[in-house]
Amino acid sequence: MTIEATLEALKPILGAANILTDDAARQLAGSDVFPWAGQVLPDLVLRPGSTEETAAAMGALTRAGHAVTPRGAGLSYTGGAVPHRPSVVVDTSRLDFIDIRASDLCVVVGAGCVWQKLVEALTPLGLKTSINPPTSGLHSMVGGAIAQNLPGGTDGIVGLTVVLADGTVARTGSWALPRSKPFWRHHGPDLTGLFVGDCGALGVKTEIALRLETIKPVEFLSFTFADSTTLMTALVTLQRKGFATRSVILDRGLSETAGQVGVGEAARTVAAVVSQAGSLRQAIRDVAGLGRMRSEVRRQSWALHLTIESPTEAGAKAQAEEARAICAKDGTEIDPAFPKAMRARPFTIRGALGPKGERWVPVHGILSLSQAEGCVKAIEARLAERAAELEAVGVRVSWLMSTLGPYLLIEPMIYWLDELGPVHWRYFTGSQMEKYGGRPVNQPARDTVLSLRRDLRDLMDGFGAVHVQIGRFYRLADAVDEGSLDLLTRIKSALDPQGLMNPGALGLG
Ligand SMILES: Cc1cc2nc3c(=O)[nH]c(=O)nc-3n(C[C@H](O)[C@H](O)[C@H](O)COP(=O)(O)OP(=O)(O)OC[C@H]3O[C@@H](n4cnc5c(N)ncnc54)[C@H](O)[C@@H]3O)c2cc1C
Repeated sequence: MTIEATLEALKPILGAANILTDDAARQLAGSDVFPWAGQVLPDLVLRPGSTEETAAAMGALTRAGHAVTPRGAGLSYTGGAVPHRPSVVVDTSRLDFIDIRASDLCVVVGAGCVWQKLVEALTPLGLKTSINPPTSGLHSMVGGAIAQNLPGGTDGIVGLTVVLADGTVARTGSWALPRSKPFWRHHGPDLTGLFVGDCGALGVKTEIALRLETIKPVEFLSFTFADSTTLMTALVTLQRKGFATRSVILDRGLSETAGQVGVGEAARTVAAVVSQAGSLRQAIRDVAGLGRMRSEVRRQSWALHLTIESPTEAGAKAQAEEARAICAKDGTEIDPAFPKAMRARPFTIRGALGPKGERWVPVHGILSLSQAEGCVKAIEARLAERAAELEAVGVRVSWLMSTLGPYLLIEPMIYWLDELGPVHWRYFTGSQMEKYGGRPVNQPARDTVLSLRRDLRDLMDGFGAVHVQIGRFYRLADAVDEGSLDLLTRIKSALDPQGLMNPGALGLG
């Protein structure tokens, strides 16, 4: 069926206002944070308002032979939300309801619910989701995160409602039982897990049930370390013993950027810290600590920031003392202004541009504790080898590492001056875009960035890294063993026999 005929068939299902055909909407819906050479402008952008509308639209699309790409906010950077062949984009932003079931410690949300909106609904009840939302949650959506996995794990997903390629509506966990509610994930095989991290290749998630927990007492600690060997010794000990809930490591470059808070950002951070610190004076002291962090880390290479949660205040303090003893062996304690600010203001997308409005893209690997240090050393060596080449085209790299458990997420971040794309124009303010939005395409730097991203991805894969946000960039189908690929392709063909669900995502279809 032609796209024009499909458009007419979709109007009674979605209403004409929820079918977008203009260039601006199609360009935004065809982009993510990175400029992809192979991206293809979508034919249509659909905005269903319910699971039923999504199911009817999906059935109509795939019967007519159109490929479909599901989409949240488009704040990923691995091409998963970017069609690479003619497609219709299913924009989930109207699926944004929140149904809190506090007595079951569960919340059901529409896939298009923005994380910040969810946190604002839960915090006054003293509740939070047990999975840790992404920093981009100011705009990014629950469905986008669940479709890609989260580095800290996704065990806190209780169940899903998924629309399959042919329009079938399936529910998982206890939700699949007509007389039960979404309160428990495991009832037979873990069908929830099948759709978590699928990057939209197996279906469109429309409703998501998440586990809730009470907000716990918290302590913060920060230390600097002279080199990666002493840092990694402390970090691995902390993670093996389980004293820190969340550890974030910044290199000197990122520490300086984090301390370089602009006036508007500082005001927003103070306002957020006030609500947690309880007093304006303490909040201003905490935010000023961010500035001091710049000078403290200038003398050292790495800063380790710990957030320590426990069901009781005494427990949090006791764990903090244990963590302090481990870190103080080789590290120097500094003001924990950074983890406090991160807790007070967990969502920002300011990091999607460099301090001078540079383009930004990370490349990451999730490493086992036994492989992490070797991998860090290998990346340090590779960046040193390529330093002159990167400098010649103005490409700069800073590091972020973090963990919420027995693994290490290593995330070198790449910055370069370049033309900004539709996603930047959508989420950054007018004054920022006036300053940074007029730059021309910088192809030599872009080519170097892509080559460096692939190089570091392959290097981390050599240490057995796994990835979230596989999209069209990280390797899955061409990396797993023969039997595992057979399982994956059989599942894909059973659920999507025409290969129309986000073709190319996960390296499938
Ligand atoms: C400044 C910044 C900070 C970030 N911080 C983090 C972080 O802390 N942790 C982290 O993990 N990531 C982070 N990211 C990356 C990214 O924002 C997250 O992965 C986020 O979860 C993507 O959500 P989204 O709504 O933008 O999804 P999109 O980018 O729109 O989509 C991502 C993928 O999911 C698929 N998809 C989306 N919705 C659905 C659905 N309902 N059903 C099926 N498939 C779907 C898409 O097809 C695509 O493959 C960050 C990005 C930026 C720019």
